[in-house]
Amino acid sequence: MRFVSFSLNNRLTIAPEHLVNNPSLIAVPFSKLPSFSQPPLNPSFHFDKNLQHILHGKSLLFDELPFEVEKIHEHYENGYLMYSPGIHKTKYGYACSRCGNEKSRWFASFSCFRCKSDSCVYCRNCIMMGRVSECTPLLSWTGPEVEWSKANNLLWYGQLSSGQQAASQRFVDGVEGEGELLVWAVCGAGKTEVLFKGIEKALKLGLRVCIATPRTDVVLELAPRLKSVFPETLVASYYGGSDERDLPAQLVISTTHQLYRFKQAFNIMIVDEVDAFPYSYDKTLQHAVTQAVHPKHFTLYLSATPSNRMKRAAKQEVLPCVKISRRFHGHPLPVPKMVWSGEWRKRIAAKKLPAPFVMWVKKQAQSGRRAMIFVSSVSMLDTVTDIIKKHVSVIVDRVHAEDPKRKEKVEQFRQEKIQLLITTTILERGVTVPFLDVAVLGADHDVFSESALVQIAGRAGRSKDDHDGQVLFFHYGKSLSMVRAVKHIKHMNREDVT
Ligand SMILES: [Zn+2]
Ligand SMILES: [Zn+2]
Repeated sequence: MRFVSFSLNNRLTIAPEHLVNNPSLIAVPFSKLPSFSQPPLNPSFHFDKNLQHILHGKSLLFDELPFEVEKIHEHYENGYLMYSPGIHKTKYGYACSRCGNEKSRWFASFSCFRCKSDSCVYCRNCIMMGRVSECTPLLSWTGPEVEWSKANNLLWYGQLSSGQQAASQRFVDGVEGEGELLVWAVCGAGKTEVLFKGIEKALKLGLRVCIATPRTDVVLELAPRLKSVFPETLVASYYGGSDERDLPAQLVISTTHQLYRFKQAFNIMIVDEVDAFPYSYDKTLQHAVTQAVHPKHFTLYLSATPSNRMKRAAKQEVLPCVKISRRFHGHPLPVPKMVWSGEWRKRIAAKKLPAPFVMWVKKQAQSGRRAMIFVSSVSMLDTVTDIIKKHVSVIVDRVHAEDPKRKEKVEQFRQEKIQLLITTTILERGVTVPFLDVAVLGADHDVFSESALVQIAGRAGRSKDDHDGQVLFFHYGKSLSMVRAVKHIKHMNREDVT
């Protein structure tokens, strides 16, 4: 759409072109408007509560709001919402106000039917959330803040381990103030329970809380758990394809990508798997976290494998840190076994599998235990799955990041309807399944970094009735990452209980 600017009550105002019946006004794309000032708040205006709930703490496009343009603009005229340019010019090129992208290669232009320009510039970096272009303003709420409920009781009677207890207390103590905290917890330490008390306190204070994670799987796993322990609280999950985005939720579980839709919303921001790709490599995702928090906020970082930068900050006491070095059940992490298996790449290319791997897979099938088998690429996934199927008669399946049935397959695996699940590194984190062994075929491949291998190993032995799951690294020459991963795990096992 295009906008016109005109004088109203002695000030310069703007409006979508089709709402003003005046052919003498020249309609332009939003970013080409002369500077105008925000209309003052009209306290006697009856604003739409629904719109307030949906837009408060957000930064959205017209298309993302389930309201008529007339209604939205009426709120603008009365000072209840703000328009700001989606794309603006900088000294060097352009910047996207939604995702913070400033790299020129991530901008393109197109012939736009909305603003009738031949070269309307848009951001390619966040295009999967709807196009932000020179003619699309971002809308945010400037009216009264939403009053969140204070009746938010935690319904959970579990016991925390001493390590969990210490971390939980640090979080509870931090909630009312500002600052940050790193919770460095081994895989299987039970980090979700560590959050409960702090979240409860924040919600009871009427604060808004977000748990952000780079992985959709983790959102899907966390959301039902939090909904069940906070039955009085409105909890919504945000991920690509989620249908809960219009819920006025006080507790939000979101992928880091979806945070682009928020603006100054959260008093408590919990960033889970803070080291995980793509969050740690993508500056714009970090920008999203910064945008999504309220000016007064507390940030909690959760990780089993913090980056070197974070570890250094923790060591220098720049970043407060609490470690949980024991699993919830008190048993040590299973230490991976390395199994030399010759030139696995060549074998797989010849539609065969290394002999030690075949021996293991047959034994695994007979044992009746589930296993996750990690391979280095999607292209290898099909071949390896097909060959394994020839060797065993149990149910074998595969899953990868773009698999449309990813959610269902993980669920079937959880319910033991699939015994052997072949996957790429997407499932290295988050998925918790008891009675599970883990193998990495070609563990010496570059995609398996130290932290990826630690996370993979951390899938095994998570239940107290089965704390000693097997972890096998099949390789053709140990990589540095493999050696470091084993060292890392042994080191955590030696640490005293915090
Ligand atoms: Zn963008
Ligand atoms: Zn346009």
